[in-house]
Amino acid sequence: MRKKKNPVLEQLAVNAYAAGGKSIAKMEGKVVFVEGAVPGDVVDVRLSKNMKDWAEGKAIRFHAYSPERVTPFCEHFGICGGCKWQMLPYEKQLQYKQEEVEQQMKRIGKLNLPALMPIAGSAETTQYRNKLEFTFSSKKYFTEAEIATMEMPEEGPRGLPSIPALGFHVPGSFDKVIDIRQCHLQAEPSNAIRNQLREYALSQGYSFYDIRNHNGLLRNLMIRLCTTGDLMVNLVLGEEDKNAINGLMEFLRTSFPQISSLFYTVNRKFNDSLHDQSPVLYHGKAFAIEELGGKRFKVGPKSFFQTNTKQAEVLYSITKEFALLTGNEVVYDLYCGTGSIGIFVSDKAKKVIGVELIEEAIEDAKENVALNNIANAHFFAGDVAAVCHEEFFIEHGKPDVIITDPPRAGMHEKLVNQILAMRAPVVVYVSCNPATQARDLQLLGEAYEVTAIRPVDMFPHTHHIENVVQLKLKGNP
Ligand code: SAH
Repeated sequence: MRKKKNPVLEQLAVNAYAAGGKSIAKMEGKVVFVEGAVPGDVVDVRLSKNMKDWAEGKAIRFHAYSPERVTPFCEHFGICGGCKWQMLPYEKQLQYKQEEVEQQMKRIGKLNLPALMPIAGSAETTQYRNKLEFTFSSKKYFTEAEIATMEMPEEGPRGLPSIPALGFHVPGSFDKVIDIRQCHLQAEPSNAIRNQLREYALSQGYSFYDIRNHNGLLRNLMIRLCTTGDLMVNLVLGEEDKNAINGLMEFLRTSFPQISSLFYTVNRKFNDSLHDQSPVLYHGKAFAIEELGGKRFKVGPKSFFQTNTKQAEVLYSITKEFALLTGNEVVYDLYCGTGSIGIFVSDKAKKVIGVELIEEAIEDAKENVALNNIANAHFFAGDVAAVCHEEFFIEHGKPDVIITDPPRAGMHEKLVNQILAMRAPVVVYVSCNPATQARDLQLLGEAYEVTAIRPVDMFPHTHHIENVVQLKLKGNP
């Protein structure tokens, strides 16, 4: 049976920004959340959800464009999932992010909240990422314009041809990849490496990965460009073809002598994750050095590091400022990743204790402590909800400041209760999801007062928001 097409609402005037990239229109008292439109647009919306008081859908036709719109700078805009907000000037993006945080915080009706400090925008709004990961695919994604000009056979099957591509996955598509010619997220030679590698591979007749049948030589390409100039490339292959790998590595080494760490990885698994794979160093040094706030960080091919280095410095500076450190405090850095916040604040603390789930990240944190000759920071692997019990805090020192930076899901309730029990005078809550942060702040409200809120934009032209909140123990002098 054919699925019935969802209803379309016509000529909706979009009048406000909601959250997560969605804007709001009203239709006969019903709130409609619209994807792909901005306030000021007049659109037809195909609904994907239709409830009594609200509905949700995608803009499929434009009757009028918002005067707020600007021309997107990227040729891949509209298809690529990367920089979806390019149609708005950066100032507007910041305004909407600020409003989103404000809305989320207001939902915590019971708490007294200070006025939000203005969002810290990113000094660089393009080429701000230190790391990009591209995918090779046997199936290029064709735009409607490309299909329109394509010569289709008169007879026989009229399916689209399979052409290899190197770029980013099309959102919502399992196998199709956009053949990216220019990406504005990373500085050169990022585009040059990707484009020249594609040309070389095609000239040699090397196959691009076919994710449906799980075969093909070229699979992924990771490029990391550090603020120090260190340049790491990891080429991931689906087959161990020694000759081809040698050719590809030599091509990269000689064409781009600025590559300081050249790796390849053979991954024959069904999924792309490298956490259980072993990258092989072909040329150069085994790690790249990133610099942030005067501290140096070793980053390996599998290590995590904040993707916008310069803005991470802003984020960490605000975090440090909110921590009100004088040099005498015992500071806990929870969900610490590779320890970068703890290391960043260590020169103003008596002692730093970091906790993180991923073992390898803790190993990186320890290396980074050694690299910076830091003696007062110690890192532990484990689930924060399990590790951070009373004895742990007693063993390592009663917390003066707790910095917490959980993933999108927010903090585990057990941890929230433990923080309430430990009564650290200051808590700094860094969050990439103000909705779960608001929920946790409400719980912490039992003993804490929110004393400062400052959103930070780590990812221009996307809908992602980072928010830093300072909490003080109530009744503490
Ligand atoms: N503060 C770090 C990373 C924050 S991202 C930085 O600024 O770079 C959140 C981190 O929480 C991730 O590293 C993730 O591995 C970790 N994490 C997720 N769940 C966890 C848990 N239950 N216990 C400890 N760490 C956890």
